[in-house]
Amino acid sequence: MLKENLQEVEERIAAACMRAGRRREDVTLIAVSKTKPVDMLREAYDLGIRVFGENKVQELTEKYDRLPEDIRWHMIGHLQTNKVKYIVGKTELIHSVDSLKLAEMIEKESQKHGCVTDILVEVNVAEEESKFGLRMEEVIPFIEKIVQYPHINVRGLMTIAPFVENPEENRTIFADLHKLYVDIKEKNIDNGTVSILSMGMTNDYEVAIEEGATMVRIGTGIFGARNYNI
Ligand SMILES: *Cc1c(COP(=O)(O)O)cnc(C)c1O
Repeated sequence: MLKENLQEVEERIAAACMRAGRRREDVTLIAVSKTKPVDMLREAYDLGIRVFGENKVQELTEKYDRLPEDIRWHMIGHLQTNKVKYIVGKTELIHSVDSLKLAEMIEKESQKHGCVTDILVEVNVAEEESKFGLRMEEVIPFIEKIVQYPHINVRGLMTIAPFVENPEENRTIFADLHKLYVDIKEKNIDNGTVSILSMGMTNDYEVAIEEGATMVRIGTGIFGARNYNI
């Protein structure tokens, strides 16, 4: 099942790139493996997947210890400051930075660890009450503050679009975030490190790619529905 799912996702990513006149290699697929057992991740690994996304610190570190070292782990879920120390040095990218307090902790722990941590700024484009993330107008002032931190690299922006029946409903959200992303790059407030736009999930990744996503985070479409009761 995993193999067929991956094939289908790959085909749909390639088709969306084609429609948008973009190159396939400009879009990174993140296999979102949260709640899924290690065996299933290993199966995906054996099929060539090297980038996995997790949303809980404990789950990420447990899987990190049990799976091959060349996996690149992405922290995509809300991150509490007191848990930063467990993942610094283990993640290729933290997608969910949404406060100065969190950025300060990442700076501090990265310094201790002797590394520079790549992060994305999470943006709540639709201003949903239930979601984390900065509002659009807060993003540039926020980045201007955290570019001062020597142990953090701001690599781009991330959003979780609303859950909608028809993915077309999220097109303007993706387009708006893309506009902000281009603006940040053009103004060069990031010291030139911004090159990632993480948007699009199982329901809406094709639209996100058409609107400029450089990373898509796909869980259900690869691993099947999640069962939170086990
Ligand atoms: C769970 C999750 C995803 C993947 O969701 P699917 O709809 O299963 O593809 C993507 N991004 C984040 C932040 C998530 O928590």
